[in-house]
Amino acid sequence: MKRTKKVRILRCGFCFICNKELLSNMGGWIINGERRFFCHNGDGDCFDRYHQDNLRRRAAQTRKEERYNATKC
Ligand SMILES: [Zn+2]
Repeated sequence: MKRTKKVRILRCGFCFICNKELLSNMGGWIINGERRFFCHNGDGDCFDRYHQDNLRRRAAQTRKEERYNATKC
């Protein structure tokens, strides 16, 4: 009788960007502080893209707030 290694594979989640299934037995993904999952295996990966998007969004937000403050004063 063959002894099979017991490996529990858990589905941890899906990539927030490309919706890829992320399993506990595979590497190359990450969970961030917002409990969102991302592929994370190098430059230009989904996590990278999300981070870049976030920076852009935050920069746009800041600009909006600045404009808003300016009109308020
Ligand atoms: Zn992905």
